[in-house]
Amino acid sequence: MTIHFPFDNTYARLPDRFYARIEPEAVTAPRLIRLNRDLALHLGLDPDHLSSPEGVELLSGNRVPDAAEPIAMAYAGHQFGQFVPQLGDGRAILLGEVVDQNGIRRDIQLKGSGPTPFSRRGDGRAALGPVLREYLLSEAMAALGLPTTRALAAVLTGETVVRETPLPGAVLTRVASSHIRVGTFQFFAARQDTEGLRLLADYVIGRHYPQAAGSDHPYRAFLDQVIAAQADLIARWLHIGFIHGVMNTDNMSIAGETIDYGPCAFMEAYDPATVFSSIDRQGRYAYGNQPRIGLWNLTRLAEALLPLLSEDQENAVAEANEALEAFSGQFEAVYYAGLRRKLGLLTEREEDPTLAGDLLKVMADNQADFTLTFRRLSDAAAGSEADEAVRNLFINPLAYDAWATRWRQRLSLEPQDGVKRQAAMRAVNPAFIPRNHRVEAMIQAAVEQGNFAPFEELLMVLSRPYDDQPAFAHYSEPPEPHQRVYRTFCGT
Ligand code: AMP
Ligand code: MG
Repeated sequence: MTIHFPFDNTYARLPDRFYARIEPEAVTAPRLIRLNRDLALHLGLDPDHLSSPEGVELLSGNRVPDAAEPIAMAYAGHQFGQFVPQLGDGRAILLGEVVDQNGIRRDIQLKGSGPTPFSRRGDGRAALGPVLREYLLSEAMAALGLPTTRALAAVLTGETVVRETPLPGAVLTRVASSHIRVGTFQFFAARQDTEGLRLLADYVIGRHYPQAAGSDHPYRAFLDQVIAAQADLIARWLHIGFIHGVMNTDNMSIAGETIDYGPCAFMEAYDPATVFSSIDRQGRYAYGNQPRIGLWNLTRLAEALLPLLSEDQENAVAEANEALEAFSGQFEAVYYAGLRRKLGLLTEREEDPTLAGDLLKVMADNQADFTLTFRRLSDAAAGSEADEAVRNLFINPLAYDAWATRWRQRLSLEPQDGVKRQAAMRAVNPAFIPRNHRVEAMIQAAVEQGNFAPFEELLMVLSRPYDDQPAFAHYSEPPEPHQRVYRTFCGT
């Protein structure tokens, strides 16, 4: 019996220079670590079949499902500011697309499935640690309610990959509303392939931004919408303390999803300069720099699109600039609206950004845990008897008291009662984020002892981040000083 994937592929209909046709490379002893059953069902796939030995053959790349048209996508990109004209899927293979139960087209991609023509010096493989990290982090993001790629499955290959040390190999099955990146546009722009650029833009408009097609100026409308989607996404990253860590233009999705979970991490003590990635020595991708870098990346997209924006160079540049100028306003609108919700404010007042900014400043001065401060503030919103738990998070609790007095004055102007406010705040201020020390311990247990219980448990806790889960309260706690993780490493 063969497993049916209802593939309906469109990217593979684009011209040959958009990708390389390549089959996954077989592995010796595939073993399922985890299948995301709910996601499988949502994609119209049979979870029982997928977790059967035959399903695992497909999820490891040992067999290619019927109607799959495996391809490695071509793209370019700026990596830490340096342009690389050809990157491409060096260790990922797109099997094909399915239309999910909401009518949205989704890519199904194997990551770590062997070399491709874009592998350069890489082996095309993925180690277990980064696969578990991406599975957990991307599913946590989805549960937090942010746009993100998803994880359908993780399998062990039974093979060893050599990084600094020999490590167990694994394959992740990634699902995305597409894998088209800012760097995909740069690939064609760098080759002055305006026809390719136009085909790609038309494809993306059809797939992700159909409203743009009806506009007087579809390519400008498309650029406007990508800018708005990224402004929205990055503002929402800041609301939950997410640091992507490697916002190269090849890691920025045109559809506005969080993509490429390499050295990403969640901030603990609030500090806008926070950086975890070991390769980000200059802090280019620090927490507070993400909006600026987002705009920098979008500027590279606008540059790539210039030939489509107008035949007249000067006009094209004017269109691009006008589009880019909207970014800051859009970012700030989403960012401050979210901060107001995090503070329990339903109405809008001119002084709100200052009130929010002052809290963040006091948090930074006092190394207050970002997630716990807002979560506990939700309870303090119902009554000042809950203040003690918040003020304990500050080195100098008096600094919180001074701010809280101003906050309560502001709350007194709100129509909502304390109980409703508390519930609304708890719905936007998570109790559980993937704490770095927990993620590292989970990876260590899996890699060193073959113990996947911590992975399963952490995944389960993070699937309900806004619920109190008293039995798992320890997962909400920041690390003890000796447990602190200062560096994360790129997942290759
Ligand atoms: P990343 O930093 O993960 O976004 O990857 C940047 C580029 O390196 C992409 O073109 C990847 O496909 C490629 N790459 C990363 N790891 C490997 C690997 N192990 N083998 C081949 N290519 C890789
Ligand atoms: Mg990447």
